[in-house]
Amino acid sequence: MGRFSVAMAKADKQFSIYIRTRNADPHTGRTECATCGGNEHWSEMDCGHYITRAIWATRFDPKNCWAQCRSCNRLENGKPDRFRSFLVNYYGREVVESLERRSKRKANNRPSIDNLLNIFKIYRQLNQSKVHDF
Ligand SMILES: [Zn+2]
Repeated sequence: MGRFSVAMAKADKQFSIYIRTRNADPHTGRTECATCGGNEHWSEMDCGHYITRAIWATRFDPKNCWAQCRSCNRLENGKPDRFRSFLVNYYGREVVESLERRSKRKANNRPSIDNLLNIFKIYRQLNQSKVHDF
């Protein structure tokens, strides 16, 4: 793998752990799927993206992402309509419309390696205290 791919994998991993543990029960580690309400241990869940990961502008935005069960994320294409309703209910319509506007901008410039390594460091630090408890 090239340096960009390595940096991206590191950023993705820590960001994903952050999203999946963010709303997990501190005692059991269980968390709810955004789109079906199913409840599983965070390590069995995916980090679901409302707007696809192919769009860089919103890929690492924590408001675009929520724990999602593997069935909803992988077998049902992320259930984007239900995902949208969930986010509108949680954050409000303006936040979701802002994500959508950003995702539709023409340029889809990929982040720099330094950007990715910063994302990796920020989320690793946020995760460090928490993940040990589950
Ligand atoms: Zn689900």
